[in-house]
Amino acid sequence: MSPKKLIVQKFGGSSVADVRRIQNVAKRIVSYRKKGHNLVVVVSALGDTTDELIDLAHKINSDPSEREMDMLLSTGEQISVALLAMAIHKLGSEAISFTGLQVGIITDTSHTRARIIKINTDKIKEALRQGKIVIVAGFQGVTLNQDITTLGRGGSDLTAVALAKELKADECEIYTDVEGIYTTDPHIEPKARKIEQITYDEMLEMASLGAQVMQARSIEVAKKFDVPIHVRSSFSNNRGTMIIREVKKMEDVLVTGVTLNRKEAKITICDVPDRPGVAARIFKELAANGISVDMIVQNVSHLRQTDISFTVNKADIAKALKLTRKVAKNICAGEVLRDEDIARVSIVGVGMRSHHGVAATMFGALAENKINIEMISTSDISISCIIKKKFIEKAVKVLHKKFRLVNKRG
Ligand code: ASP
Ligand code: MG
Repeated sequence: MSPKKLIVQKFGGSSVADVRRIQNVAKRIVSYRKKGHNLVVVVSALGDTTDELIDLAHKINSDPSEREMDMLLSTGEQISVALLAMAIHKLGSEAISFTGLQVGIITDTSHTRARIIKINTDKIKEALRQGKIVIVAGFQGVTLNQDITTLGRGGSDLTAVALAKELKADECEIYTDVEGIYTTDPHIEPKARKIEQITYDEMLEMASLGAQVMQARSIEVAKKFDVPIHVRSSFSNNRGTMIIREVKKMEDVLVTGVTLNRKEAKITICDVPDRPGVAARIFKELAANGISVDMIVQNVSHLRQTDISFTVNKADIAKALKLTRKVAKNICAGEVLRDEDIARVSIVGVGMRSHHGVAATMFGALAENKINIEMISTSDISISCIIKKKFIEKAVKVLHKKFRLVNKRG
């Protein structure tokens, strides 16, 4: 008999999208309980409920109060916990559902993106002692003033990781609609392979570079408190991907994944006077208006003038252009150009820290395939290139092959 464990399981919206799926999730939970394990289950809102509630709010008010948004969005998870508890009761097991407020997930007051300050686990522990399966509404908390907050999109992951940490759980399983983390998007490269193990840093880098699996903040918290995460499918019993602390042998693998992002646009300011303080003025203006800038490239200056290019989220392009044009005029720069026809391809891997020539291999592979690189940026575990959008699928395939991701770490 396997030892009894305390397991935190989180089920995403797609895993509980309809009645049959809720019943299947309940069956899985009960089968774990029957093995003697203690279970704390975190659930997201059913299917696309959160998106639908956001749409609904905007039909009523295009600029809704963030406090009321949290009040509204937290209802999604309240529905799913109750239904899941009922489904478990139907199977003859004991379960009890709680909201964030009831279990005392205390957050700061930043509505729609609150941070967890502390969790009071008394209620959960008491229910576990009574032999119940505990079901907690994901994504929500409460301020010291009893105002309901939410933890940012995808925040149920954070609820699960934070509970796993606080309860010192033996395992934290994140159930989703894919089999784990893939070496790249399988829709683009059918040869993409499920990764057995990935480090927190690689996962964070992949998330920020476009791979959508888990909320980035939840991975930061998992890293900080060293909570190993098992990302796996709620539709199968297969092992998924373990997100864990870096161990030495992971460095043997040069590249762990290839990501892509089509959501960026490029702005170029021509003929910028080359003197101190100019870049500061441009980027201060953008930051002051809540626009985050991603890649930045400044050319060598000839004749005391230079071009500066940077990328922003496509959704911000109109606002960013307007602000940039204003500053460009003030500092006597030239034309401001926009280019939405770009995409970013990135390679990620902790092995890059200890191996030379990874960048050269990446650029070489793109060059051999006549893919021109417009901008480059690096971190210690990733290299990104901005290229023309029409080449993005090809670039992903070329790099996936070049770094032999089909055969690695697994
Ligand atoms: N339901 C929330 C969202 O869609 C939280 C979550 O799914 O984790 O963002
Ligand atoms: Mg969701």
